[in-house]
Amino acid sequence: MRIALIAHDKKKDEMIRFAKEFESYLGIHDLFATGTTGKLINESTKLKVHCYKSGPLGGDQEIGAQVANGNLDLVVFFRDPLTSQPHEPDISALLRLCDVYEIPLATNISTAKMIIRKGDSSC
Ligand code: PGA
Repeated sequence: MRIALIAHDKKKDEMIRFAKEFESYLGIHDLFATGTTGKLINESTKLKVHCYKSGPLGGDQEIGAQVANGNLDLVVFFRDPLTSQPHEPDISALLRLCDVYEIPLATNISTAKMIIRKGDSSC
């Protein structure tokens, strides 16, 4: 699968914990991320994540374009629902495109774990 990983700043620690917990599962897939999220995962794990631009600088839109072009199978986006984001329109656009193209989208860690456990009986 081609999986996109995105985390807002207050959710980045959670994303790193998630990436470590599911490292062996994630490692057999092609991974993509917004800039800072991907950099942190690359530094904290042995995973190889392709980094797009940072979210506020267009990374969410780049990932949205990949969704629209049929190049992603799952988007894991740990959003911070308690902090307003300067790039809210880009975030909404990405979430919308996931629905337009019916791409599985996990916006919190519980959903992400459930999707991954369903796809991998060893988790
Ligand atoms: P970042 O972007 O990984 O570059 O911080 C995430 C976002 O805010 O959309």
